[in-house]
Formats: sequence, C-alpha cells, structure tokens
Amino acid sequence: MADLGNPKNTIEIIQKHQFVFQKKFGQNFLIDPHVLEKIIRASGATDKDLVLEIGPGIGTLTQYLAEAARQVIAVEIDKNLMPILKETLDGYKNVTVMNEDILKVDIKELAEEYNEGQPIKVVANLPYYITTPIIMGLFEGHVPVESITVMVQKEVADRMQAGPGSKDYGALSLAVQYYAEAYIAANVPPNCFIPRPNVGSAVIRLTKHKTPPVKVTDEALLFSLIRAAFNQRRKTLQNGLNNSAHISYSKEQIREGLSHLGLPPAVRGEALSLEQFGELANYFSGL
Ligand code: SAM
Repeated sequence: MADLGNPKNTIEIIQKHQFVFQKKFGQNFLIDPHVLEKIIRASGATDKDLVLEIGPGIGTLTQYLAEAARQVIAVEIDKNLMPILKETLDGYKNVTVMNEDILKVDIKELAEEYNEGQPIKVVANLPYYITTPIIMGLFEGHVPVESITVMVQKEVADRMQAGPGSKDYGALSLAVQYYAEAYIAANVPPNCFIPRPNVGSAVIRLTKHKTPPVKVTDEALLFSLIRAAFNQRRKTLQNGLNNSAHISYSKEQIREGLSHLGLPPAVRGEALSLEQFGELANYFSGL
C-alpha cells in the first residue's frame, strides 16, 4: 500500500472515499514522513512490542507502527474511516482495527488478551479534545503500560513537563510526573497536518516509573491536595486547602502541616515540588 506519509497519497485516498473531516473527533492527519519517523523512534517500538494506537485516522502512523512493532491494535471511533483503513492497511497482517471509543475500551483486558498481561506501548497522534482523560485513564487504571508516546498540543506537552516555579506548572504536571518521566521529543508545526490545527503540537514520551518517585500512604489524598492547591491558583496554599470541599483538615492542622515542612504560611501551591506534596500528604494521613 502507498505510503500515506506522502501528502499526495493522503489527499488521493480522502478524495476517493469522499471522506469528510469531523472536527468533533479532533481529526488532523499527519502528512510528514520525518515527523512520523520521529514518533516511531521516540516510542522505541521493536518487533517484540504490542503497540496500542489511539485514533489511527486513515492509517498513516499505523503503517509505520506495523513495520516497527510485533503487533498493533488500533482503536478508532469514526465508523466512516473503517472502509478506508481496510484499504490502507491491506497486507499488514499484524494490525487489528477496532471501531470503538477508546474511553470505553478495557485496555487492561486488551493487554491481557494480546500481550499476556505484559506492559504495552501506547503510540498515537491524539485527538486533542480528550488528551487528559486518555492519559490519566492509562495511569490511574493501572493498565500495564511501559511508555506512552503521543502527539499533543504543544501547550499541554509543556504543562506535563513543567516543574515548580514555571507558569506551566500545575495539577497535570504533578499527576504525570508521579506516574512517569516526561520528555519532549519534537515540536511539530501546523503545516505537518491536514487539515492544519490552529495550535502548535509536540511529541511527548512518558516513560512509566517502575515505582512512583515519592512514597505516599494515601494516593487519593495526595491528588486531593494537588487539585485543591491549583484550583485557586492565586490563593495561598493554606486558603486553597481550607476552601476545598475534599479536604477536611482544620485551619490549624493545615497551618501546622505547612510549618512541619518548613514552609512559610503564605506559600502558594505552585512553589511545592512533588516530593513536598508527598510529604504533606503523609503528614496529614498520619494525623
Ligand atoms: N493517527 C492519525 C494520523 O496521525 O494521521 C489520525 C490522528 S487524529 C489527530 C485523531 C484520531 O482519533 C481521529 O482519527 C479521530 O477520529 C480519532 N478519535 C477521536 N476520538 C476518539 C475516541 N474517543 N476513541 C478513538 N478514536 C478517536
């Protein structure tokens, strides 16, 4: 089958099937072979790996993945793409296409069925409207995943990678870094897609930690603290925690918790590292 990394082939197949792009599904298809190769390289996919691709579109990245990996499971929501995928992936015996909403798929079960429960690699040019639920679902659902290599909005990639003190630092940075090591592999301009998105994009690789970098006795409490700290970003951490419906500690206990960590009473959440949020969570759960 013709290489869809070549824009001419992409346009041809779209016209042949009279495919209509659906904005609501975040359909921006890649048309740059260099970017496609970069994604494959960043993913580290080899002939031993099972790769889950989210949103194959017309099968562009899928073709590259099929060449690199042992097996590819591609989950696509848009039924209008099924006949196209049948044509563009014809001849690739190691690809399975599923017409499903990824947010409703039991990925743990997929890994069990196709990879004997061993960690899989997730590789995708993600639909941007559901980036966070997809990534957090993979982490929080305790799916066996070794790494997630995805195209996301540039701004989201920056947030995932940011540390304390940066304007991009927030609840997403902390959640991602609790579960994985984040590395931006490439910045990708709008002209590498058809149609062009109106934002810049980046390829980010999230390599899952074997064990989280901070040890907490109550993970749910850690995330409640993080969410409360950034819900009211301009408030002090003390007020943020006080005002949260999910945090039940008294004003006094919160003040003592901060002082136990050696933090000033007016400190803001954005100044705390993941380690410090972990310490705070352990202090509270020990009360
Ligand atoms: N992989 C293709 C590429 O790189 O050219 C297409 C990427 S496009 C940014 C995102 C794809 O995800 C679209 O094909 C879209 O239909 C699909 N998609 C959107 N929402 C989805 C969902 N909930 N589950 C599965 N696929 C979805």
